[in-house]
Amino acid sequence: MTTQSKRLNDMRISEHFRLREFECPCCRCVQIAPGLVRRLEALRELWGKPIVITSGYRCAEHNVWVKGSPKSLHMRGQAADVVVPFEEQETVMKMARKADFSSAIPYGKRNFVHLAVN
Ligand SMILES: [Zn+2]
Ligand SMILES: [Zn+2]
Repeated sequence: MTTQSKRLNDMRISEHFRLREFECPCCRCVQIAPGLVRRLEALRELWGKPIVITSGYRCAEHNVWVKGSPKSLHMRGQAADVVVPFEEQETVMKMARKADFSSAIPYGKRNFVHLAVN
């Protein structure tokens, strides 16, 4: 990690998101599918609330650390975990379908939803 890459990742990649929000927490590397960002913007519009990403891109090492699936789409920049309070997950799941995500997995009381694109 260099300070320069940190500054670069600070750039805005869409109306409401910065590249930094999708960084792998261990190495600050980032890879993100444009289709994922587009759908997150669509979801934000439907939900009307700021979207907080808890996990975006993961390098292979970090994916092992968090016990992610070996084929996790997080390693390809095609998935993001988003904070959604348990009580709102059903609503957000419906909105995720409308926003055209290819999959959405609610994590119940852990208060987040995994959103992915193919
Ligand atoms: Zn990493
Ligand atoms: Zn996830």
